[in-house]
Amino acid sequence: MSQTIFERIIAREIPGKFVYEDDLIAAFHDIKPTAPVHLLVVPKRPIAGIAGATADDQAVLGHLLAKIPEIARLAGVAESGYRLIINSGRAAGEEVIHLHVHLLGGRPLGWPPG
Ligand code: 5GP
Repeated sequence: MSQTIFERIIAREIPGKFVYEDDLIAAFHDIKPTAPVHLLVVPKRPIAGIAGATADDQAVLGHLLAKIPEIARLAGVAESGYRLIINSGRAAGEEVIHLHVHLLGGRPLGWPPG
């Protein structure tokens, strides 16, 4: 299977601005930010979107979510607040089929989203 763009960023084959990384996950800035803080938090081993998640992914997904508060602190939005988004499928605009959580912050985030 060919590598995803996020695997190539994690492998340092293409540049990425990392905020956090450990053995299982990485968090780096989105190349086209839609907020002053726009990170992508990803499992290093690709999962084919949330639609492709299975019971085998429970540990890494639990770890990813449990690390969000620390990543938000590192990004400077823990106090002001932030939003997590997972796009799934065409209607949601999912483009990169390597599961990723968008972490948005640094501005007021309207609800419901447009
Ligand atoms: P999706 O629409 O699949 O939920 O989000 C994919 C995200 O990946 C988009 O926000 C897009 O800007 C970001 N993205 C696509 N290519 C790259 C890249 O090469 N580097 C980084 N940092 N982000 C990327």
